[in-house]
Amino acid sequence: MSSSHHHSDQHRRLVLKALLWLTLFGGVCFSAINIMRENWILAVLELSYSFISLYCLLVINRSENLRTLTIIYLVPFFTLMMVILFQPRTSFSVFAWIQTIPIIFYLLLGLRLGLWGSLLFIGIGLFAFSQRFTSDNQVTNILILANLGAAALSVTLFSHIYERSRLRNEQRLTELATTDSLTGLANRMRLADVFEREINHAKRNRTPLALVFLDIDHFKLINDRYGHKAGDKALCHFAQLLSGRLRSGDLFCRLGGEEFAVLLPNTSAEQAATIAHSLCERLAATPLELEGRPLPMTLSAGVASFGEDGELLDELMQVADRRTYSAKRTGRNRVVTEDGHEQPLAAT
Ligand code: GH3
Ligand code: MG
Ligand code: MG
Repeated sequence: MSSSHHHSDQHRRLVLKALLWLTLFGGVCFSAINIMRENWILAVLELSYSFISLYCLLVINRSENLRTLTIIYLVPFFTLMMVILFQPRTSFSVFAWIQTIPIIFYLLLGLRLGLWGSLLFIGIGLFAFSQRFTSDNQVTNILILANLGAAALSVTLFSHIYERSRLRNEQRLTELATTDSLTGLANRMRLADVFEREINHAKRNRTPLALVFLDIDHFKLINDRYGHKAGDKALCHFAQLLSGRLRSGDLFCRLGGEEFAVLLPNTSAEQAATIAHSLCERLAATPLELEGRPLPMTLSAGVASFGEDGELLDELMQVADRRTYSAKRTGRNRVVTEDGHEQPLAAT
C-alpha cells in the first residue's frame, strides 16, 4: 500500500527468504536422519515441509500479501517444531531451538503477533520439556526448565523493546517525510499514498472522487511588498484557515510554493466546485493581519474528477493544473470545473 509499508515489507521478505532456505535444507537433512532412525512420521513431515518451503520460495517475490503467506508458513512450522519437541526419541538439545521463536516471530510479524506467537509457542515448548524430563533429578530439571524459560522470555522482552522502538522511528520518519514542514499540511508524497487508497475505495463503492488545485493569486507581490517572512506567514494562515473548512476525510496538501491541492472523497465535480467556492469566500472573509492591517488574498482553483478526467493521479493533476491556469488567464479569484467554461466567482 504505502511506500513506508513497502519498506518494512522488504526487510521481512528477506528474513522470510533466509528462513525458507534454512527449512528447505534443514527439512531434507533432518528427514534423512529420521529415515535412518526409521522414524517415518517425522521424516515425511519434515520432507513435506521442505516442499512447502520450496513452494514459498517460488512465489514469495510475486506475493502481494506477505503477512498472510508468513502466517500460513509459520504456524505449521512452529507446530512441527512442537511435535518434534514432544517426540520421546528426539534429543534433549533440540530444546535450544526454543530461543529462535521470539526472534523469528518479531522479525517476521511485528509487535502484536510477535508477542502472542512467542508466548504461545514458548509456553508449549516449556510444557513439552516438563512432560519429557521428569523422571531424573528434580532439582536439575527445574533448574534447566527455569533457565530455558528465563532465556526465552528475555529474548522475547528484548525483541519486543527493539521492535517497538523500530516501529516508532519508522512512523516518525514516515510522518516527517510526508509532511510539509512550513504549514504542517500533507505533502505530495502523502497525496500519492492517500490517492491510491481512495481510488480503490471509489472503484469498489462506485463513489465519486475529486481533486482540486488551489493557487494563491499574485503571491509574489506579498513577498515583494512585505518580505519572505510575511509570505511564509501568509502561507500558514492560508493552510490553517482552509483546513478548518474541510471534512476529516478530505486531504489538504501543499504541493510546493503557493500551490495546494485538496483530495475530496465521495465528492462530485459539482460539489467540489461548491467547496472550492466556499474556500474562496472563507479566505476573503478572514484576511491575515499584517502590521495591523488586513492583507487580502484570493485564490484560483481547478477541479478534476476521477473517472471523467482520468484514472491516474498524474492525469487528474494535469487536468486540475490546466483548469487552474485557465482560471488565472480569465481574471483569477475563480473556480474552473470544465475546460473552456470558466465561471466567475459568485459575489461574496
Ligand atoms: P499567480 O497569480 O499567477 O499565481 O502569481 P503568483 O505570484 O502567485 O505566482 P508565481 O508562480 O509567479 O510566484 C509564486 C511565488 O511564490 C514565487 C516565490 O517567491 C513564492 N514562494 C514559493 N515558495 C515560497 C515559500 O515557501 N515562502 C514564501 N514566502 N514564498 C514562496
Ligand atoms: Mg500563484
Ligand atoms: Mg503558482
